[in-house]
Amino acid sequence: MLMFCPICANVLVVEEGPKCYRLACNTCPYIKNMTRKLSSRRYPRLKEVDDVLGGAAAWENVDSTETTCPKCEHKRAFFMQIQTRSADEPMTTFYKCCNMECGHRWKE
Ligand SMILES: [Zn+2]
Ligand SMILES: [Zn+2]
Repeated sequence: MLMFCPICANVLVVEEGPKCYRLACNTCPYIKNMTRKLSSRRYPRLKEVDDVLGGAAAWENVDSTETTCPKCEHKRAFFMQIQTRSADEPMTTFYKCCNMECGHRWKE
């Protein structure tokens, strides 16, 4: 079964993580653990990331900034910063085009 990244829509690949196998995106930091034994409650941070990036509602209350959409060249985009892989790595900034008809998402 192919799984697609909710952020950039690329196909997720299976890789071996520190605790279990997981689905990972090659083009952005999205990761989803595959194991069923480990409850998501043990991983509140990952769960949170899933929720934040999960639906359109997540983007409703975020700030917008002046940047150019790579798809439609609209001059504003919503943005949010998320700590994904580990606390050691810098925050990743995700953007969503303010042009409602476009809605393109990308990461910095
Ligand atoms: Zn992705
Ligand atoms: Zn756009």
